[in-house]
Amino acid sequence: MSRRPIIAGNWKMNMLQDDARALFMGVAKHAEEYTVEQLPTIVIAPVFTSIAAVESMRCSKCRPLVKTAAQNCHWESSGAYTGEISVEMVKDAGCDYVIIGHSERRQYFSETDEMINKKAKAILKGGLLPIICCGETLEQREAGQTDAHITSQIKAALDGISSEDVAKSVIAYEPIWAIGTGKTCDAVEANRVIAMIRNVVKEVAGEAAAEAIRILYGGSVKPSTIEEQMNQSDIDGALVGGASLKADSFNEIIDNTMKTM
Ligand code: PEP
Repeated sequence: MSRRPIIAGNWKMNMLQDDARALFMGVAKHAEEYTVEQLPTIVIAPVFTSIAAVESMRCSKCRPLVKTAAQNCHWESSGAYTGEISVEMVKDAGCDYVIIGHSERRQYFSETDEMINKKAKAILKGGLLPIICCGETLEQREAGQTDAHITSQIKAALDGISSEDVAKSVIAYEPIWAIGTGKTCDAVEANRVIAMIRNVVKEVAGEAAAEAIRILYGGSVKPSTIEEQMNQSDIDGALVGGASLKADSFNEIIDNTMKTM
């Protein structure tokens, strides 16, 4: 089965509305030179306060070409959860995807596997798609715990989710030591871990879901690294942080991905 690649830009806590609009337009104008079939699925994830600004720029031509994601959400639909945003609100703002379980949220906001599982279920129930992040620390890698750690993160995140919903979901393997450090994980090793994740998905949700689910690599992806990454058997795209903050580098990642499609 051929899986359509995804190139997703995680803008993290960057940019005010004007900058977000300008960056979105830089990505959208470039995407508009191609058809949906030629492009990978392009997703950008602005901060909550810039989603509406970006949405206001999504014309009928670029809407199918560039999708938007929230960087987080809460699993409850509404209520006394000061500072939180529900799936319905994210959907109402126009998003198609929600990034969950990013290592920065696990590390700085104490997000647990159980919370990530609740978020994944709420996102799918609400008709959006989760981009579920997982990844090991350098200490875990050096102690030979990478596979066991990732396996337990994936099993916990997908617990109780139907095979049909797992098939639609997206996983991003992001070794924590590669995020924002400039140190990209060797493409063959990233592919090995991603193939291992696909086997875990097969175990919990069956072969069809494992074949369909898109599993991305994230961690210092650059225009110069993406082709080798995309030429691996199991890497279905990239979650890009730093290099998604400039239209030129993000568009070059998209161009180099298209060369591999
Ligand atoms: C990320 O934050 O998801 C990420 C992969 O960042 P960077 O590309 O900057 O390493």
